[in-house]
Amino acid sequence: MTDNYDECIELMTRRGISLEDCAECTYFLQAKYIKGLTMADCVRAVDEVMHDRDIQNAVIIALELDVLAEKGTIESKYIKEAMMKDDGLFGVDELIGLGMAFNYGPVALTSFGYIDKIKPGRIGELNSKKDSVCNTFADDVIGAIASCAASRLAHA
Ligand code: MG
Repeated sequence: MTDNYDECIELMTRRGISLEDCAECTYFLQAKYIKGLTMADCVRAVDEVMHDRDIQNAVIIALELDVLAEKGTIESKYIKEAMMKDDGLFGVDELIGLGMAFNYGPVALTSFGYIDKIKPGRIGELNSKKDSVCNTFADDVIGAIASCAASRLAHA
């Protein structure tokens, strides 16, 4: 299987997500625990996470689902509607995020739950999107990447 780092970054960029967006959330999670933490540290940790093939696969499938929902090409009417209105009880988006965090241990898992509630930075912006846009999975992708990077920094 190939390394899909470039495809991931390209897809994230198209969906309005930068490594810096993720890194800001990582900083939000870890600044009070790591003395002297810088944004550069967070960007580096996020970039390392993005080289993980499991993360790449999850990011691509998650963001593709947002794209399909927007195009209206998801066959299930129920799933299409749940995704377009970001139904709080849909939950598959959070499950993918938790799955991404799972390999990075308790710091990542608890950080993901926390950041999902607080929705700092770009997560909150994507969450308050227009009706024709689907960011149901995008916000969890950022939260999960940020949480995995937070765990890497915590254990460094
Ligand atoms: Mg979501």
